[in-house]
Amino acid sequence: MAIKRPSKSRGGPVRKATTTVPVRHVDVLATPRMVPGETYVGWLCKNRQCGRLIAIAPPPAGAKAGGGEFDAEQAAVKCPHCGDEDLYRWSARGELVYRIPDVAG
Ligand SMILES: [Zn+2]
Repeated sequence: MAIKRPSKSRGGPVRKATTTVPVRHVDVLATPRMVPGETYVGWLCKNRQCGRLIAIAPPPAGAKAGGGEFDAEQAAVKCPHCGDEDLYRWSARGELVYRIPDVAG
């Protein structure tokens, strides 16, 4: 014998995390191109186990200078060291010295 249950709508509409904040894609320097002790403009990796400097790659030769900048607050950056991709504040970038930890692990 089946009990007839009132049909219930399950929950509300699933809210999707829509991000309307413009994100700029940033090219970073590959690890082999980074020299320890040199200063680069970029961020420190958000991955606490990494924490190394992510250096912004200079724009390619021939890229139109000026006017190409758009007002993106965030930059999608992939760490060349650990491969983690995260969002970084474009305005938070700074000149940092690239250091390699003495002991790995
Ligand atoms: Zn990293």
